[in-house]
Amino acid sequence: MTDRLVLVINCGSSSLKFALRSESEQKPLLSGLAERLGTADGVMNWKAGDIREHVAITDGKHSTAMASLLPLIERFAHRPLTAVGHRVVHGGEHFTGASLIDDEVLAAIEDSAPLAPLHNPAQLTGISEARQVFTDIPHIAIFDTAFHQSMPPHAYRYALPEALYSQHGVRRYGFHGTSHRFVSTQASLLMGLEPGHGAWLTAHLGNGCSTCAVLDGKSLDTSMGMTPLEGLVMGTRSGDVDPNLHSHLARTLGWDLERIDNMLNRESGLLGLSEGLSNDMRTLVAARAEGHAGASLAVEVFCYRLARSLAGLAVALPRIDGVIFTGGIGENSPLVRELTVRHLALFGLAIDPAANATPPGNPARQIQAGNSPAILVIPTDEERQITEECLALLDLAATQPVEQEA
Ligand code: ADP
Repeated sequence: MTDRLVLVINCGSSSLKFALRSESEQKPLLSGLAERLGTADGVMNWKAGDIREHVAITDGKHSTAMASLLPLIERFAHRPLTAVGHRVVHGGEHFTGASLIDDEVLAAIEDSAPLAPLHNPAQLTGISEARQVFTDIPHIAIFDTAFHQSMPPHAYRYALPEALYSQHGVRRYGFHGTSHRFVSTQASLLMGLEPGHGAWLTAHLGNGCSTCAVLDGKSLDTSMGMTPLEGLVMGTRSGDVDPNLHSHLARTLGWDLERIDNMLNRESGLLGLSEGLSNDMRTLVAARAEGHAGASLAVEVFCYRLARSLAGLAVALPRIDGVIFTGGIGENSPLVRELTVRHLALFGLAIDPAANATPPGNPARQIQAGNSPAILVIPTDEERQITEECLALLDLAATQPVEQEA
């Protein structure tokens, strides 16, 4: 059987991220990012093995960026694509897994757009442009929310009037599902359990951060909610605040909703706590070592809130087979892992300092001390997960009988 190829696309309002993945290889054959789309400074940087180049996208159009992928794919793939996998942020309650894109699926993505107004419309644009460039192959949508559709109502419902849920979809959805699914599956392999089995607390810590309780491949609860603002402290997002904050700021400072929204999403989190120093954990860890008070506070609050979230999610699980750290911070910051686990001593969790120190290459590994439940560092690979889900969907479709017309 040929080694199938999937083009993974993540389209934002001014960006287009892509990766060409083969079924058998751990690394992408080709990957890149087109940025500043919508301006005359559009540019696409890409790499394939040791080759790194860039192409100007002077008209700034998503369609031009998408079209410029064709010759690159021909150059590095040497065989036709099997499918295009599109990352879509919000699937509402419509999707529990990967879905072959047709008119019905497009309508459902559009239907969920009010829940992700910054993301879903851009991703619909990406799907439409890609379908015009990559014709005659399946296009598949993979939703950040789908993995969490297994949450029970007691985890996903807010204590709000029922009509807000049933008529307006106000509930907790959760995000980063692709990453939580990937690392929990890898954890079962690393620990020698049956693939996909185990009771895990996962912490995806990148610019956006979320935790998840996963039991035997199913999300039972997660820290993000109706939008990716709920939960942990993030790079520029506040995470949980008192819901009365909005009315308090409106009454006392005269702020309108847009200003409050902007503050909570773009000026808060690590950036806000560090007195505007940085949203980047690397910078904060370095500044903390130099005695910067704001940076120290930001790191402390980040780790404490993360530990509190993991402890809270533990109630969703019958036991803890392991705690998993992933994402740029989770994979690369021994300090964040150490400070977080210190708050979790109640669970018998403890870190081995030598194992916690980051080795070159950062492979998946165990870092717990002595009798502690497993603590794992597992590099996430959302594109690999998307590739696998696309191919699994195609395999499933191939085994299903074709419906006969009556
Ligand atoms: P995204 O969510 O955009 O994919 P990443 O998963 O790449 O982001 O994570 C970005 C975060 O990871 C940044 O806060 C960055 O500072 C942090 N990070 C990367 N390397 C390190 C490191 N060595 N130590 C601490 N933080 C790190």
